[in-house]
Amino acid sequence: MPKEKSAGAVIFRMENSKPYYLLLRYHSGHWEFAKGHIEEGESNEETVRREIEEETGIKEVKIINGFKEYIKYFFRASYGLEGEEKKKAPWIFKLVVFYLAQTREIEVKISKEHKDFIWLPFEGALKKLTYKNAKNILTKANNFTIEHKE
Ligand code: ATP
Repeated sequence: MPKEKSAGAVIFRMENSKPYYLLLRYHSGHWEFAKGHIEEGESNEETVRREIEEETGIKEVKIINGFKEYIKYFFRASYGLEGEEKKKAPWIFKLVVFYLAQTREIEVKISKEHKDFIWLPFEGALKKLTYKNAKNILTKANNFTIEHKE
């Protein structure tokens, strides 16, 4: 089975001592964190910094030490296929590693890869995220920001 590996980040900024999380809306409809394919020769962290800048326009981020979480899922590579072809689309196994990234920037410029973005506090972001595994990552990230608040 083909495998894909991506790296991404739970991006947050603090406002009045409260974290706000950045979610992106993918064209297939789901709300998720910024992430992308790890290119050959790139470290996870390099991918994360590159994807954050490409997908959100945010340049200044601090990758928080000690947070690293994985999610796995399967999906069918059916993009652009119709009817019978779509039903036969191959399954892909995907592994995504997520870091926690803090920024002071509020302005976001999404790329063509997404159709919308939103900054939300924890409870709102938890509701907005489409997938359970992403909700779990957000919960861990939020606990981490609380425990490691300076
Ligand atoms: P990348 O941003 O890593 O380049 P992509 O935009 O090519 O990825 P995905 O976001 O992985 O693609 O989406 C591919 C398929 O997987 C879509 O059908 C999507 O609905 C589904 N998917 C995305 N995220 C998850 C998830 N966390 N759990 C389960 N399925 C997911």
